[in-house]
Amino acid sequence: MIKKHHIFAKWRKQDVEYLKNFGINIRDNYDSFLIPENEIYFKIIDHFTSKSLFKKQPPEFSFIHSLSEFSKEELDKADRYILNNIGKPKGYPQPKNGYKEKSYSKLCSKCCTYNSQISLFRIKNEPKWGKNQVHFSLNWIFDETFIKKDFFQEVFAPLGLKSRDVLIHNTGKPAETVLQLVIPEAESDLQLDGSTYDTQKFCPVCGIKKYDQRNLDFMPPFRKDFDFMICKTKESFGETETHQANRKIIISKEFCNLLVKHEIIKYNTYDLLPVRSS
Ligand SMILES: [Zn+2]
Repeated sequence: MIKKHHIFAKWRKQDVEYLKNFGINIRDNYDSFLIPENEIYFKIIDHFTSKSLFKKQPPEFSFIHSLSEFSKEELDKADRYILNNIGKPKGYPQPKNGYKEKSYSKLCSKCCTYNSQISLFRIKNEPKWGKNQVHFSLNWIFDETFIKKDFFQEVFAPLGLKSRDVLIHNTGKPAETVLQLVIPEAESDLQLDGSTYDTQKFCPVCGIKKYDQRNLDFMPPFRKDFDFMICKTKESFGETETHQANRKIIISKEFCNLLVKHEIIKYNTYDLLPVRSS
């Protein structure tokens, strides 16, 4: 596994000059670069984050997006994966204002963790499908995937997978070409406490702790193993202070192979994150 960091900021002239020393060429004003986690990375971070009076303030509007890249061998060894590719986002859940309150039970007003889905999702129009496209996601919803109906019936239904209707918002009638894949909740929690993902605080309102949503490392295994094709973690991921709380979707190797075979996902480190073997 290689850790990489994508660093974005509004760079000043002196920052551009400083980074040139490391062979990093960026423009002043808004720009970004990708760097593996190595000595140079830590040196640069130290340079820009040091609060010392003798050092200059960091550039404004800066952020770092970290990612882990896994080798083919690491993917091969795993038998469970986090599914990162739930389809390209296509439109928004309806109504844009208030869909969360209608869709979920025990929705926390502060951190947005939820217990379960209590009503059908609604979309604006019958989806327009791209050539060979069989799945998509909705903006703002990172833990559900929507499947082309004929594909679902042909490939997923025979495996025993279940679906829900998706409603067209204005008419309240089920969409004709799409179904929501039902993703059951995991039967066990993950061994997340004390792991790299354990970066958040308990929510003062609901008392639930979310975990880091970035791909920081192998995902820790379930506390107690069980059989499944696809499931959703009991835990939510997102920052304590934000309204984002999504579950991770975990798939078995067999289901992964099926998705790859049907070209729904690619067998690579962007679409899949391996779960550490227990
Ligand atoms: Zn909460």
